[in-house]
Amino acid sequence: MTTQSTTTTASTPRLVPYDDAVRRYDPVLGIEVHVELGTRTKMFCAAEVSFGADPNTQTTPVSLGLPGALPVVNGTAVEYAIRIGLALNCQIAESCRFARKNYFYPDVPKNFQTSQYDEPIAFDGWLDVELEDGTVHRVEIERAHMEEDAGKNTHVGGSAGRIHGAEYSLVDYNRAGIPLVEIVTRPIEGAGERAPEVARAYVQALRDIFRVLDVSEARMERGNVRADVNLSLRPTPESPLGTRTETKNVNSFRSVERAVRYEVSRQAAILDAGQTVIQETRHFHEEDGSTSPGRVKSDAEDYRYFPEPDLVPVAPSREWVEEIRATLPELPQARRRRLHDEWGFADAEMRDVVNAGALDLIESTVAAGATAAAARKWWMGELARRAKQDEVELAELAITPGQIGELQQLVDAGRINDKIARQVLDGVLAGEGDPEQVVVARGLEIVSDDGPLLAAIDEALAAQPDIVAKVRAGNQGPVGAIIGAVMKTTRGQADAKRVRELVLERIGG
Ligand code: MN
Repeated sequence: MTTQSTTTTASTPRLVPYDDAVRRYDPVLGIEVHVELGTRTKMFCAAEVSFGADPNTQTTPVSLGLPGALPVVNGTAVEYAIRIGLALNCQIAESCRFARKNYFYPDVPKNFQTSQYDEPIAFDGWLDVELEDGTVHRVEIERAHMEEDAGKNTHVGGSAGRIHGAEYSLVDYNRAGIPLVEIVTRPIEGAGERAPEVARAYVQALRDIFRVLDVSEARMERGNVRADVNLSLRPTPESPLGTRTETKNVNSFRSVERAVRYEVSRQAAILDAGQTVIQETRHFHEEDGSTSPGRVKSDAEDYRYFPEPDLVPVAPSREWVEEIRATLPELPQARRRRLHDEWGFADAEMRDVVNAGALDLIESTVAAGATAAAARKWWMGELARRAKQDEVELAELAITPGQIGELQQLVDAGRINDKIARQVLDGVLAGEGDPEQVVVARGLEIVSDDGPLLAAIDEALAAQPDIVAKVRAGNQGPVGAIIGAVMKTTRGQADAKRVRELVLERIGG
């Protein structure tokens, strides 16, 4: 079996090691993100939007581009676009139009994509993205515009799903006409060697915002969010922008980071050799993290844009925009800051929590009655260890925040101690039920009834008369040996503090 496409093999270039490349060149990013909106129906017709339906069953004459069909704008999609624009600190146009972007390709049955060109609905925004170590990089947003998705071509029989070498091709128009918002950044400068991280963090921050805004399921693996990553190099930050490449449809956070790294190394090699970078689109290859040439793309690509004559301008009233602004949910960054304050974690602790994907889990555990410190202790300690051991995400562990809350309450009530709590975790993770049930079923409750304790204490005292004598003589140091013996007899289930009290009482008496 061969996984490498012929294009990759033929064009594998020399690469400059990444660290070396960024020492000598300044990378500049530009990122275009398409997000599929989670509306019930399509952008310009009433065909349903649903994932996984049989091919070509979610269409209307409009999304098939049949003669005589007229589009109507989906009001919910406009509202979602405004929500996105506001969340990205954009201006919202008082009036804007759709335009036809003309091109001939089988996935676009109308032979044009209805998009926005010189009049986007949202423009001039910014987003602060936070890297894993807490560094904040501001990304300026040029525009966010509305458009429709194309259909999906499937090339069968070739390698890696490309048309090259395919025996035949299929087209599915279910996706044609699904509402999209495309968000375009200004050149992202000043990231330096951290450009790959900034690119990744930006796309991740957008994904989180889409989810909180409830405008999209924003599932990367389903292609709900797709990133086109532009990258160019220049000798110094003062030099004019270099020639950029655009790596298309990168659909995971990790791939965004890898695609940038690869292009930095590849373009540096070209520039080192005194050659020029070709302005083109490129494909990203998951298998080895490389990119390969797509089509040559000039800046003034002739899409013969013109205003869509079949649609009236979209003119959202200022009242409506303000109403949407007033009902925006708390955004991820603001929420992180608020929780940081409420929980009183140190900066580094909070970053670890965020990076471990434990924010929601801890919040829910606190809601279930645990203190923030206790919730963090469990999720970032014992549970993180187990997740790592099983190679799963924290959220995938077979235990809920509610159960951790209950576990901590058992500890707080003195019914179990921390050590026993780990055994309770074992039981819950093994599917034996909630903490309370596990404690009862496994007989783990701390022995708080003095009766059995006294028997164990008397036994220990009788076994070590020399220690008893020392303690009676006023030296309390060796009393620990007695306590240890009692804890051993009770298999750790005694309350050590109570044992100590009883031992001293017994010896004193
Ligand atoms: Mn687009």
